[in-house]
Amino acid sequence: MNKPLELKELMIDQAQIAKRLRQETSGEVMTDSASRGRYATDASIYQALPVAVLVPKTAEDIATAIQIAAELGVPVLPRGGGTSQCGQTTGAALVIDNSKYFRNILDLDLDKGSVEVEPGIVLDHLNHSLKQHGLWYPVDVSTGGQATIGGMAGNNSCGSRSIAYGNMVHNVLGINAWLANGQIAEFDQYANSSGVAKQLGDFVKGLANTLQPEIEAHFPKVLRRVAGYNLDIFHPQSELPYTQDGSVNLSHLLVGSEGTLAYFKSLKLKLSPLPKHKVLGIVNFASFYKAMDSAQHIVKLGPTAVELVDRTMIDLARSNPSFTKTIETALIDHTAPTPEAILLVEFSGEAHAPLLEKLAALQELIADLGLPGSVVSMSDTSMQKNLWEVRKAGLNIMMSLKGDGKPVSFIEDCAVPLESLADYTQELTEVFSKYGTRGTWYAHASVGTLHVRPILDMRRDGAQKMRAVAEEASALVRKYKGAYSGEHGDGLSRGEWISWQFGPKITQALAEIKHAFDPKGLFNPGKIINPPKMDDVSYFRFPPSYKVIPLQPALDWSAWNVQNNPITEETSAHGTGGDPAMGLAKAVEMCNNNGHCRKFDTEVMCPSYRVTRDEKHLTRGRANTLRLALSNQLDIKDESSPLGSDTIKEVMELCVSCKACRRECPTGVDMAKMKIEFLSAYKKRVGHSLRDLAVAYLPKYASTISSIPLLPVILNLRNRIAPLAKLQEWIMDISAQRSLPIWKTQTFWNQKAIHQQHQFTPEQLAQSDHGKGVVLLADTFNAYFEDENLIAALKVLKAAGYRVHIPHKSKNVSRKSSSNTTCSKEFCCGRTYLAVGMVDKAKETLGELIDHLAPYAEQNIPIIGLEPSCLFTLKDEALVMGFGERAVTVSQQAQLLEEILASEAKAGKLQLTLKSSTKPVLFHGHCHQKSFDAVTPALELLKLIPNAEPKLIESSCCGMAGSFGYEAEHIEVSKQMAEMSLLPSIRKSPDSWVVADGTSCRHQIADGTQREAVHIARILAAHL
Ligand SMILES: Cc1cc2nc3c(=O)[nH]c(=O)nc-3n(C[C@H](O)[C@H](O)[C@H](O)COP(=O)(O)OP(=O)(O)OC[C@H]3O[C@@H](n4cnc5c(N)ncnc54)[C@H](O)[C@@H]3O)c2cc1C
Ligand code: SF4
Ligand code: SF4
Repeated sequence: MNKPLELKELMIDQAQIAKRLRQETSGEVMTDSASRGRYATDASIYQALPVAVLVPKTAEDIATAIQIAAELGVPVLPRGGGTSQCGQTTGAALVIDNSKYFRNILDLDLDKGSVEVEPGIVLDHLNHSLKQHGLWYPVDVSTGGQATIGGMAGNNSCGSRSIAYGNMVHNVLGINAWLANGQIAEFDQYANSSGVAKQLGDFVKGLANTLQPEIEAHFPKVLRRVAGYNLDIFHPQSELPYTQDGSVNLSHLLVGSEGTLAYFKSLKLKLSPLPKHKVLGIVNFASFYKAMDSAQHIVKLGPTAVELVDRTMIDLARSNPSFTKTIETALIDHTAPTPEAILLVEFSGEAHAPLLEKLAALQELIADLGLPGSVVSMSDTSMQKNLWEVRKAGLNIMMSLKGDGKPVSFIEDCAVPLESLADYTQELTEVFSKYGTRGTWYAHASVGTLHVRPILDMRRDGAQKMRAVAEEASALVRKYKGAYSGEHGDGLSRGEWISWQFGPKITQALAEIKHAFDPKGLFNPGKIINPPKMDDVSYFRFPPSYKVIPLQPALDWSAWNVQNNPITEETSAHGTGGDPAMGLAKAVEMCNNNGHCRKFDTEVMCPSYRVTRDEKHLTRGRANTLRLALSNQLDIKDESSPLGSDTIKEVMELCVSCKACRRECPTGVDMAKMKIEFLSAYKKRVGHSLRDLAVAYLPKYASTISSIPLLPVILNLRNRIAPLAKLQEWIMDISAQRSLPIWKTQTFWNQKAIHQQHQFTPEQLAQSDHGKGVVLLADTFNAYFEDENLIAALKVLKAAGYRVHIPHKSKNVSRKSSSNTTCSKEFCCGRTYLAVGMVDKAKETLGELIDHLAPYAEQNIPIIGLEPSCLFTLKDEALVMGFGERAVTVSQQAQLLEEILASEAKAGKLQLTLKSSTKPVLFHGHCHQKSFDAVTPALELLKLIPNAEPKLIESSCCGMAGSFGYEAEHIEVSKQMAEMSLLPSIRKSPDSWVVADGTSCRHQIADGTQREAVHIARILAAHL
């Protein structure tokens, strides 16, 4: 791993600091290479291995750690969500993570409209608590779901609505902080200050007074300037004054100091009333230049946001079926060519009527600018919300570009005065093409800060191009009297540009401030003061020397093994990317550390992080550990395969393969598939346990068990006789606290009269009346343990007029199976094999099913499943197992029961008469169902039941995740996942139906609430 020079020169005794931290603090201390590796990166291109990591539990832990570090001469780096884009959160230091235990609101003063918080509280969590009081903290950064207030203050972060509310510096009232010598100081109003804070304030004031002409000459006069320290608190230069009354607040000196001056213990924040009403005017431009030129006029109308979305992003959104409709609501004419840019202009306030007047004024203004009829007015709140989501998603799609060239942030937040915005963007675009790249523009047109990231390949010529583009961009910023660092901070990307921005005298003054606060230079060295060169490859995450170890993965990752064209963004043919790990490494490297997986909102990702709050149990932590292992940067000994090592086992242990990251991670990091790779490699190394075999081969032995008289009854005794459960736990590590699925003597398969009626060839089905033929998969779980679900599904399908084929090998009517290795008569998707890493067995089993289904799929016959985890194997893993086109054809027809019925209902073709429900319905979506956007159809279908009033339970994973919740070592985590929201929501509605499609989900609900949850097929059948 690349180690910055300072670490080598410091000769730090890592063992000694770890020993003292363990003895003298109650925090979690980590010194192993994997743990340090997980804290070596932020959302920048940089990487530096920490000396050690501390996750403190108490304020005393932090104080003691700072003291120990000072005594041993070890640098200290405070960390929040680690989402910085410029490398300020990377360093060869003792990294202290505040995000796990310092999340409290300490004091809320509603009269004064202020709140005091701990540094690790996440913005969205704070705002969630404030909402009930009609207040919010308005620095609305895009990373609000994961950015901490400490980190936001560290970076002087800025939100989309900064034109109305200002940056962090405008919204911090006071900071209580530790200095590098361990002393606590209170930084707030200078006039009232005392002690060491006053001494430091006096010192800075002296410097500022001496340098007043320099400050006036060199500090850019724009709102968005975050470079260096805010020496201008004594001679304000910002467009928006730091304080309303012109007073000096010493805490503003610490805002934007990137952990280099003091360690924040608590922060006092200024709150704003939540606006009651919002309207949006979307201006369509046929010329990008015109859009940029118009921003200066639009801001005069007093909007709360003016955000740019350029043509590339609009097109990306239009080409994505989930967003097409929404983005088209923003277009004047969706049949006309896509506009070159749109500006989202938001007005907000206490009353609706004046906002409509503002919208009218916007229309008038745009007409005066020569573009009559170019504004779409949007008053509907949910439409506005959807459109903001599309803007975010567009950025995510851009970031998901495969190949080694990536959109790199280093000039992504330069700020220029609005009157120069059009010329600046035009000239910078020319610079990009000069260096063979291109940038997509978006974000804060209101304040002249447009995000743009040219695509560069840091493993090849990226460093040289980055330097060249930065030099030319800086010349443009100077020409237009802007700020080179306008939002995301300095870090390693822009540290060297501080002296360029301010000149030698102010740079010297900043160094003196640092020395006054931190004489030994221990707080986050190399940031702001004495920064390295931005293109020093020894700090890069992917330096030219970066090498991946060769390996043959179990799945096909060739879609990731590609390179891209930075101009057209087209990717090369699958498998041509030159990855020695056949695409697996490149898939892992898709994680750019943006930290979105740390969010806690309504979606699913990442359940294991939600209950542990540990970096290693987070998608990002897993991806980083895999990347480091695959590039041989970890200390993995005596293990033939890094992929199957204990180090990877540690991070994969709590991954429940929920597939949420596959959908919710902006760059599509698919950890569930990566877990299959790990399991395959790991189990090859250590072998399969008895429990693995019991899980994997369930589809094989289920028919034998159910067919031997009395055997099901005997096996079911385990659920009634506690010592038997204990014995099983002892032998097989299956938790005695869990009930097991109940074996039956009557299964779906031994009701021959039923399934034998449902045997049709593809041709017979295709010729069904009105084309209503479907294939219904009878999966192991529903066939052997809950046959009532299959019977119900058949009833519903029959009522709706379908002819149903049920795949079964005894009547293999489509084609003869190519495999003769199995004696089982039932087809299976191979899910249980994948759950324990038996990829070859899964391929064999799933291959047979695909063979059987392909002729049906080729006739466009829908393939319906009841169990989401089984059905979605056809849409997901089946596509990376080398089955070729036939798997793609099958996947296109595969859908859940509710998906086909809901789409038929939408098309007005569903003939199903349903009785009224006597009680309301609560619906819990299976994680895989959520990952494949198949929850909405379930709700739409349930709405067809009169009086059902279906409500979605907002929950993450139920915690069962196949066999995970049955495993003795995971039972507690499994229960915690369920208790986060699923089980409490069900308990709150004692009189409702609970509907859940997943067999494990139903089990968790039954175990945790003693309530029966039913499959959607059953509730539909019950209302026929
Ligand atoms: C996709 C994406 C979108 C983004 N959008 C925005 C945006 O809209 N606006 C914006 O401004 N930024 C944005 N950022 C940058 C980043 O998310 C923000 O700067 C965020 O506020 C950082 O918060 P954090 O908790 O992750 O801080 P970290 O990255 O953990 O830390 C940031 C800095 O603060 C210091 N720090 C942390 N805690 C303390 C403490 N207790 N005491 C002293 N110093 C401390 C750290 O040492 C570091 O220098 C974005 C980043 C990404 C990846
Ligand atoms: S795994 Fe995805 S969401 Fe998490 S940090 Fe990486 S890229 Fe972001
Ligand atoms: S599959 Fe689920 S548990 Fe695993 S990393 Fe992704 S979101 Fe987290």
